[in-house]
Amino acid sequence: MGDLDSDFRAALDGLQAVLPDVDLGGFANKSIAPREPQTILASAFYGKTVKEINGVFGLSPRQKAVFDCLRAPHAQDFLTVIPIEGLGQCMSAVEYRSVLKYRLMIPLYPEDEPCPVCRKVCLDSFGEHALHCKELPGFKYRHDLVRDVLFDVLKRAGIAAKKEAPVNFLTDPKEGRSSLRPADVLVFGWSGGKHACIDFTGVSPLAGFRGSGFVSGQATQKAEAGKISKHEQACIDNQHAFLPFAFDTFGCLAPVASGFLKRVQKAALAHATVSVGHSYVFSRVGFAIQKGVAAQLVARLPTHDL
Ligand SMILES: [Zn+2]
Repeated sequence: MGDLDSDFRAALDGLQAVLPDVDLGGFANKSIAPREPQTILASAFYGKTVKEINGVFGLSPRQKAVFDCLRAPHAQDFLTVIPIEGLGQCMSAVEYRSVLKYRLMIPLYPEDEPCPVCRKVCLDSFGEHALHCKELPGFKYRHDLVRDVLFDVLKRAGIAAKKEAPVNFLTDPKEGRSSLRPADVLVFGWSGGKHACIDFTGVSPLAGFRGSGFVSGQATQKAEAGKISKHEQACIDNQHAFLPFAFDTFGCLAPVASGFLKRVQKAALAHATVSVGHSYVFSRVGFAIQKGVAAQLVARLPTHDL
């Protein structure tokens, strides 16, 4: 037992050296640290590590930007899902590896090879083109998968909704009424008794990355604002509410999308007959986003990497 005490003291001394500002007096007894202090110590330690990572490792501007993206709200939600095939919550090993490589900036592709899907642009090693490439089916698959999973979540939460619902006012403003299109999802009686049109849009935050002035979350906010200026007035004029659902390739959600899911999460908890986790809705949607990203990355991998 004497050894245990000295190990405990040595560990505390080590922590104190790293965290001189944290008062560790309360932890200096020989009992095993209960849960609460463990959490306090761990978050103080990792908080400091994260703050200093830039100085210690000398991150490049791109690495800094990706690091910020990974720390954005909801970017890690997908990691907490339980693999359930029936809910589409499974990825193959190569899909999961590709997503992790993209997030950790491990090269995915040989430089200067033409994109095997669009054959118009050369691939870059980190997968930026792969995620921008609008060639079917990848880009549409990501959009549709997130839509389908959210629709399933709504159904299970007892929220009445319709997928690909025809409405007679959603258009591309430039094309006018000749290009009427359905709402991705229509949620009935959602906002002050009005039906809400959800419009999904996925963006890559590193599109056109220039090295300075990068702010994580800005791309989704911009996409959200763009959708609002395009469609909100038409919805209001027709007694509907408009809900843009903007997300990025790291899983960060724009404010309207995140607020919407918070309310859905509450409904899911109230409706559930079995216990569901407190971030269940965010995890499911986050996983769908990453599965969509994986599909785009995998479709362009050289065959020997599959
Ligand atoms: Zn392409």
